[in-house]
Amino acid sequence: MNRGSGLRIGKILGIPIYLHSTWVFIFAAITYMIAFQFKQQHPLWTETQHWTVGVLTSLLFFASVLFHELSHSVVAQHYKIRVISITLFLFGGLARIEREPSKAIQEFNIAIAGPLASGLLSGGFFVLTKLFPYSQSVGALATLLCVANGWLAVFNLLPGFPLDGGRIFRAIVWGMTKNFEKATRVAGASGKMIAYAMILFGAWGVVNGKVQMLWTVLIGWFILNAAQESVAQVAIRQALVGLSAADVMSKEVPTTPGHITLEEYSAEVLRTGRRCHLVVNGDRLLGMMNVHTLNSVPRNEWAHNSVQAAMIPREKILWTSPEEPLLRLLERILTADVNQMPVVSGAGDGAPQIVGIVTRDSILRVMQTRSELGPLATSR
Ligand SMILES: [Zn+2]
Repeated sequence: MNRGSGLRIGKILGIPIYLHSTWVFIFAAITYMIAFQFKQQHPLWTETQHWTVGVLTSLLFFASVLFHELSHSVVAQHYKIRVISITLFLFGGLARIEREPSKAIQEFNIAIAGPLASGLLSGGFFVLTKLFPYSQSVGALATLLCVANGWLAVFNLLPGFPLDGGRIFRAIVWGMTKNFEKATRVAGASGKMIAYAMILFGAWGVVNGKVQMLWTVLIGWFILNAAQESVAQVAIRQALVGLSAADVMSKEVPTTPGHITLEEYSAEVLRTGRRCHLVVNGDRLLGMMNVHTLNSVPRNEWAHNSVQAAMIPREKILWTSPEEPLLRLLERILTADVNQMPVVSGAGDGAPQIVGIVTRDSILRVMQTRSELGPLATSR
């Protein structure tokens, strides 16, 4: 799921709130299930009452999910971690934070805030059930929400990544071993075990005629994917640890004069297979030209336009230094959505010099080689 995908419904505490398209299905399904339950348990209510209280309960349930995600977010913001968005989707809510917490205790507090908030809501609705009998609208609504929030708290405390309980588990292992990668692998493995258990348990239920258990299978499958993804991210971090731009850059930087036409430039690209050039005039750097920029100009204008007119001007080129850690560089390349970055040395002391170029491909090649050679090669 992309960041902030779906319909934006508002902003709370500076965080944009989104409804993902899949949310519509779960909202409809849950509303229907609640109204159906009311119909069976409250035959004296009118049809309108079944549906009005049903929709209201369903809306309040998703407000509860939102409250759960907001609690994670408030604690994250307390640690100066920006919350990019909160999205409600098929399997609940998802708060996207800009980076992982830098300390185990921060992760622990961010993770535990959600289940605590759900537990608190469950308690609040429990008080309401004592004040209003179950036969009335408010009492019926409160009973359902008390149970739902209670389940939300308990389910999220299961100790497998990416559930809150898995994050709490990771924070504890991280705090004890001081090793984030190891903690993620342990919590990820435990998340996979919980996911497989849910899939098997759900499948067993479906085979025995309980079709609603299909839901357990789906949630298990979702957890399995998320657990695998988090472990893969750690593997990437590990493959790149200790490397800097200088290690993967190509020292050969092709150049092109600015006065040639795009037609001539395309011929050069086809001839040499090089996809990126620095545009120079003698010793002077004017800008950068690549296939992506070439393709942004319509084909029939290539003959009448010069490289200098189409290139990325010098001021707009994103640079890296030979010392920049590769992991951070990769993040920058992905965020800026560029394919390559020139490597400039001595930018600080007034005599900047282009010493090479780093491409996405060169980083991917290193990652691939390192993962093929295994952990031995990564311990340098
Ligand atoms: Zn949570």
